[in-house]
Amino acid sequence: MHWRPFVRFGVFVVSDDLSGWCARVIAAMTAWQEGFGPVPAHPATDLDPARVEGLLDELTTRLRDNYPFFHPRYAGQMLKPPHPAAIAAHLAAMLVNPNNHALDGGPATAAMEREAVAVLAAMLHLPADGLGHLTSSGTIANLEALFVARELHPGRGVACSADAHYTHGRMCHLLGLACEQVPVDAAGRIDLDALDALLRTGRIGTVVLTAGTTGLGAVDAVDEALALARIHGVRVHVDAAYGGFFAILAWAGDPLVPSAPLRAVAECDSVVVDPHKHGLQPYGCGAVLFRDASVARLYAHDSPYTYYTSAVGHLGEISLECSRAGAAAAALWLTLRAFPPTPDGLGAVLAAGLRAARRWSDLLDGSELLAPCHRPELDIVTLAPRSAHTLSGLDAACQAMLRRGMTEPDPVFLSTLRMDGARLVGALPGIAGDAPSARVLRSVLMKPAHELWVERLHARVEELALSVASSS
Ligand SMILES: *Cc1c(COP(=O)(O)O)cnc(C)c1O
Repeated sequence: MHWRPFVRFGVFVVSDDLSGWCARVIAAMTAWQEGFGPVPAHPATDLDPARVEGLLDELTTRLRDNYPFFHPRYAGQMLKPPHPAAIAAHLAAMLVNPNNHALDGGPATAAMEREAVAVLAAMLHLPADGLGHLTSSGTIANLEALFVARELHPGRGVACSADAHYTHGRMCHLLGLACEQVPVDAAGRIDLDALDALLRTGRIGTVVLTAGTTGLGAVDAVDEALALARIHGVRVHVDAAYGGFFAILAWAGDPLVPSAPLRAVAECDSVVVDPHKHGLQPYGCGAVLFRDASVARLYAHDSPYTYYTSAVGHLGEISLECSRAGAAAAALWLTLRAFPPTPDGLGAVLAAGLRAARRWSDLLDGSELLAPCHRPELDIVTLAPRSAHTLSGLDAACQAMLRRGMTEPDPVFLSTLRMDGARLVGALPGIAGDAPSARVLRSVLMKPAHELWVERLHARVEELALSVASSS
């Protein structure tokens, strides 16, 4: 099967000229290199071109062992290729290979990191005089936020919802912090009464709220939880790794997103957002932002190797990681120039996925074969066949549909999500709760092309439901 290498981003990009853009940056960076005079060729790094071509062919053949993340047929996890412009920018910087740990490792990309982080802070409406930096992932960004939380509230634990990303439990363990789970409501948001009761115990120093859970895309009531936390003198960290970019639409008053909680992120103490999720970036790009820049003191350390050209402002002085790709900053910087965080810029990319999710949810409501398992708040849809009478039957049917979808002609690639049995019994009338939980089908509609493909996705998944029902 032949896949086109990139799907066009609807009307937002007139031409995705990946090879032209790559050739352009290679030429420009080569011209820069040539200014330093010829580099003597050393045989140690010589390679026979024919052998490299053979290896590259072997590599690209092996890379076909992948799901087609670029295509709207792929509607599974939070995966898609970066925008071609981000790839060209990443390549340009990679030809230099700057290290954003210290200014000596790459002044240009360190400056781009500061500019890109300022754009992210403005997007979230955080104060311009806060602190922030890129990280290699959302996991590390959350680790940094929890590290700062521990330093400021030693001996007090962390509260997060049962649907928060599993990273919080793991990172709390790493940091020696107690992590207490708060139940979620029927929509998958942190239960505010339970949170209030927990905060009254005095055990908690920091509440982690999730603005867009990884499973369902549920947005915790950040506004209300923040008010509770302030009453109890507790710090608030928002994990917006997946959902942070939707703040663009919230601040524009777009009714497609829950505005009040997304806007309240602006008032919180720290925020994590992952440009490698909804920011069109290749992997290796997370970000952590702090509203109070004075937390920089908690990172204080000295480096005998690296900090020598400047008295101030090495990114390594405000981050736990040492080496980090300057190319990640270059790619994000360029992308945020090309797709500014406005409703017409990056917002238009996000809105297409939101409309696709709403549309699919409506189609599911009207379907005799499929039912929605939750109301999408962002761009994640969950669904299950209506033919199942028990949770265990539902689980088996969803597994069969997932497998058939990927292996039969006219493929469709979904993912599964294990959901609590009681929640499913509430969402799917008439189903018998014979198991504590069941896996349902889940789709993240994060490519704008999904808006143009959602009817086909729905029709194909209906066919799968029919074929699984008739063969069981
Ligand atoms: C993806 C995600 C993470 C983890 O981020 P990585 O970049 O995968 O390390 C944390 N929290 C949430 C809500 C996420 O969606």
